[in-house]
Amino acid sequence: MKKNTYQDDRISTLEQLKAYLDISPQIEKKLQRVLQAHPMLITPHYASLIDWTAPNDPIMKMAVPSCEELNLEGSYDTSGEAENTKLPGLQHKYSETALVLVTNTCATYCRHCFRKRLVGLPTEETLKRLDDATEYIKKHPKINNVLVSGGDPLTICNKSIERILDNLTKIPHIKFIRFGTRVPVTYPNRLDDKELLGIFKKYATNEKRLQIVTQFNHPKEICPKSIKAVSNLIDTGVLLNNQTVLLRGVNDRPDILASLMNGLVSIGVSPYYVFQCRPLARVKNHFQVPLFKGLKIVENAKAQCNGLSKRFKYVMSHVTGKIEILGIMDGEIYFKYHEAKDRKNLGVMFKHPINKSAGWLDDFNPFEIQTNIEPKSGHAPSSPVIKWEIQEAKRVKQKTINSDLLLTE
Ligand code: SF4
Repeated sequence: MKKNTYQDDRISTLEQLKAYLDISPQIEKKLQRVLQAHPMLITPHYASLIDWTAPNDPIMKMAVPSCEELNLEGSYDTSGEAENTKLPGLQHKYSETALVLVTNTCATYCRHCFRKRLVGLPTEETLKRLDDATEYIKKHPKINNVLVSGGDPLTICNKSIERILDNLTKIPHIKFIRFGTRVPVTYPNRLDDKELLGIFKKYATNEKRLQIVTQFNHPKEICPKSIKAVSNLIDTGVLLNNQTVLLRGVNDRPDILASLMNGLVSIGVSPYYVFQCRPLARVKNHFQVPLFKGLKIVENAKAQCNGLSKRFKYVMSHVTGKIEILGIMDGEIYFKYHEAKDRKNLGVMFKHPINKSAGWLDDFNPFEIQTNIEPKSGHAPSSPVIKWEIQEAKRVKQKTINSDLLLTE
């Protein structure tokens, strides 16, 4: 790939945007403030998916800045990424998984991005020296997989991608590597690059499969070009799973979510997670769907799915772990730790009385936590876990206060 070819004809200024949309002078002023904080970048392909005459077009909502991004309620780090950072660009939250942030660039800057604090902005949070990350991983034999993320790792050059794969696949205890990317969705032409596909083919061996984790959020994103991108990837031997973010005004209808999941299975991508949108500054008020409503949407969508397309879990990436939002029964919402920062909480279930406006675990009154439903061996029903969680919830609330350090209005 030539350097930054995806940026050549991008939409990145309000002047360019005005070729597609009428923007009043008042709105323009506000949007300038948004762009000073978080840049805009939209590839021609992604722009071509937008119906510019429809003010509520879902693709437009994900790509075009909105005045609602001036709302700073929330935090820039909702899942404890700062405290899990072991060296610049390497996070280690769950014992088996290392997360490396290899870039702050993306093909398109998603308005709902949970790493808004760094995408397209100067940052110290991305990897500076691959060798340092490799050494860290070598010294931690419990790490059996690496998630390569960013920004979007498929926007870096082929040579760097190959170096990453070469280094990581040589570590005996690394059993698989994942790349988290929106490139198949926002810049599918990148996956016509035979050199890149050759690299994937070389490293997607029978013993150590490569996994590509895509983020399709709406059925409109499944189009001939993205289908071809997925097909090219499948031909290299990589495996594809999809993470969707539940987004208000984008996919918060059962029929849309079901159509997305059924469509993904058709093209060879396995639905993996539906993520609850995080309570992120500039995102929460714009995109978050309350958990109660989210559960209804997910359950009704699953009723329109087949066995394969309903395999995904509805989860929340909380500072304490990945929490599955299981369902509602007798006026209460049930949760379960699918992943836990503190391993003793793995599999622990708990419940809260329904709060129809709660969008995140911390929105429930921690003193309303009922009990562990089925304590794992070693957890007494009197529950140290619950006490721990109450303390944790308090701590998270305190931590959010000063999180808006990186960006200026
Ligand atoms: S591609 Fe991923 S990292 Fe980049 S802006 Fe979109 S969600 Fe964020």
